[in-house]
Amino acid sequence: MKLIEFTSHYPDEQSCRIAFKKFREKEGILCNKCGNITHYWKKKREQWECKSCGHRTTLKSGTVMQNSKLPFQYWFIAMHLLTSTKKTFSAKEVQRQLGHKRYEPIWAMLHKLRSVMGLRDDEYLLGEEVELDEGFFKTVSLDRDKSEPLKRGRGSQQQSKVLVSVESKDAKDDYNPKKHGKKKKVKFIKMKTIVSLKKDEIKSQVDQMLENNTKINSDKSNSYNDLEPDYNLNSQVIKKQDVNKMLPWVHTAISNAKRMLLDVHHRIDDDFLQNYLNEFCYKFNRRYFDNLFERLMIAAVSYRWNYLGEEYG
Ligand SMILES: [Zn+2]
Repeated sequence: MKLIEFTSHYPDEQSCRIAFKKFREKEGILCNKCGNITHYWKKKREQWECKSCGHRTTLKSGTVMQNSKLPFQYWFIAMHLLTSTKKTFSAKEVQRQLGHKRYEPIWAMLHKLRSVMGLRDDEYLLGEEVELDEGFFKTVSLDRDKSEPLKRGRGSQQQSKVLVSVESKDAKDDYNPKKHGKKKKVKFIKMKTIVSLKKDEIKSQVDQMLENNTKINSDKSNSYNDLEPDYNLNSQVIKKQDVNKMLPWVHTAISNAKRMLLDVHHRIDDDFLQNYLNEFCYKFNRRYFDNLFERLMIAAVSYRWNYLGEEYG
């Protein structure tokens, strides 16, 4: 949505509250107590009342905004900022734009929205044919044992491992080198932080990313030993200089994600890397979609805060 449209649709707190009520009613209000879905609207209190048991549901409860004291307008503006460009915004910048005194609630709001993006994408699996590889992202670990010396390279505590999967097929008839650049077409992507490259961890992550029998193109690695027979594994030794040719999209995705993240977030806490990746993948997967703001709003009213874990409270 363009800024001019956003400001005319949602000029103030009241317009955001009314719009939020409409979004929720479109998705349906579920009584937390008895599971009934029909309600009266109590205008004065701005609450729904269950027609069956009388239980009240506030505007925010059962959504990503549950327990948040921030105005609706802040959430709307944050959702607009996160969906209106390919880039991202730091919590510091959003705090500055909103003129809010405290940093923490703004930071938490953005992370809750990124979590919601991840939950939405977790509902879909990739299939047919994918590229699979690991990426290494520079992060800081706030709970790292400082007495432990820093290791270098891939085992370093300052590198977080990320498993990346990209749906990628040979482009045939409609291949347009000017437009697509690479001789493969890409559809959807997933990125998941992993603790290790052990084959059982890789297998369980891949099970959550891909449909069974998906054809997986990858570099030869012992980490992938458990992927057969559930998947159709096509792994081969790939020389460093051939990586971009053999696995073109997975490496483009990794470098684009790094660029988006590192341009804005100078120090990424490893505990929150997944959320930043969620945002990158969510936007990438919807790069041809209209109305990203509304899509994110629907996700925001569909997921309860308690799915997101206590650390976001
Ligand atoms: Zn009820």
